[in-house]
Amino acid sequence: MPLFNPSTREKRCCLCGDLKPLEAFYRHRSRKDGRANACSVCSTALVYQWRARNRALVYLQRQRYRRNSPKYRSQNIAQNFSERARAAGAVSEVRPKDIRLLIESAKGTCFYCGAVGELEIDHMVPTIRGGDNVVSNLCACCVKCNRSKGCLTAAEFVNGGVRRYRALVYGQHASVG
Ligand SMILES: [Zn+2]
Ligand SMILES: [Zn+2]
Repeated sequence: MPLFNPSTREKRCCLCGDLKPLEAFYRHRSRKDGRANACSVCSTALVYQWRARNRALVYLQRQRYRRNSPKYRSQNIAQNFSERARAAGAVSEVRPKDIRLLIESAKGTCFYCGAVGELEIDHMVPTIRGGDNVVSNLCACCVKCNRSKGCLTAAEFVNGGVRRYRALVYGQHASVG
């Protein structure tokens, strides 16, 4: 027997067994009547029960979410950069906000190869090669380029050498303002 009665627009919850108006059930696309079989009270209780039983998993999910959030990521990168710069004795004045703006303005496009995807931040002249941790020495590039660039300078890494590198840098900082 179906749980939903179309004439009264009421549905029986499969968990608590109460008859409730259809609006008391969360939307559920794959159900015939478009609503979940458990009422919203029971559904919510189930979610809490599940979370209580799976604390470790919930913790990991939250952590992953936090790690991928732009704010947390940029803070992390900025801190990491300032520690590395300090160790290398370089000037360090990059703030998390600078990182966030740089990634946003790159719109997913790698500074070096133009590929679209997830971006990291690179010191064009690495701090261990005398580069400073300043915005004008940063670019957003793909993971692949960042790994293969290693401790090369951008001019050494870019195909076409110094001239193409200058064009890239000029373009980047002209568009960022
Ligand atoms: Zn219920
Ligand atoms: Zn790339």
